[in-house]
Amino acid sequence: MRMEIQDLSCGYQGAVVRNVTLNVDAGELWCVLGPNGVGKTTLFKTFLGLLKPLGGRVLFDGKDLHRWRHKELAKRIAYVPQSHEPPFPFLVEEVVAMGRNPHQSLIGRMRAEDRAAVDGALSLLGIGHLRGARYTRISGGERQLTLLARAIAQETAMLVLDEPTANLDFGNQARVLTSICALARDLKKTLVMTTHVPDHGFLPDCKVIMLSKDGPHRAGPGQEVVTEEAIRNLYHIENRIIHVKEYGKRTCIPLYP
Ligand code: ADP
Repeated sequence: MRMEIQDLSCGYQGAVVRNVTLNVDAGELWCVLGPNGVGKTTLFKTFLGLLKPLGGRVLFDGKDLHRWRHKELAKRIAYVPQSHEPPFPFLVEEVVAMGRNPHQSLIGRMRAEDRAAVDGALSLLGIGHLRGARYTRISGGERQLTLLARAIAQETAMLVLDEPTANLDFGNQARVLTSICALARDLKKTLVMTTHVPDHGFLPDCKVIMLSKDGPHRAGPGQEVVTEEAIRNLYHIENRIIHVKEYGKRTCIPLYP
């Protein structure tokens, strides 16, 4: 798969995000960094075909995004929302099975291949034991993994994730990020996620687009784009990037108070 974003401007009555040019290729992991209100969600809505570009183009596999039929696009791009309090007490396996919707007929009966996709997604993320649990009664981390499993069961080439580690404890953040990296590395899925954590740009082979309110956007390999100066300009906060050579890890620390 390939998503080509060419001089894209998107928004509502007026443009919120302007002049984004980017190619997203198969197996890539992208983080979208930027302050609140800069237009990350707006950009995502445009990637999902929910908003029509105000200028420029988004091509998915060479075809203008808004010329794709919704059901065909849903076979290729899955959306992973932030885990939320759901209104209905569905079972975890029922939530994951919802990912099969674009592949099913109007009647929506589960076929053997749908069951296999649900089982495969649950076992890939190691949450098979939760299949009979009520989605309303599991932890936030388990819910986020369930929503990720739903997207995996959808069997799309690309996953778009809205702050997948928000509201998760330290351990669950690491587990969700490990699964995200494995999806890109092992299954060659393309993942684009929003985040407020600069360190996510240092995940293995991660690329970053930094959306800025008052300057040009920057895009490229995380280690090149996420610099002390770039973080200072983006969030107006002094910071240092520490390289822990022993573990091959980098981390960005704010200098406060
Ligand atoms: P982010 O996800 O980076 O926090 P958003 O994309 O949600 O930013 O919002 C970017 C800007 O677009 C904000 O100024 C917001 O008020 C505006 N906005 C968001 N949704 C709508 C809408 N439905 N109609 C008009 N303006 C909107």
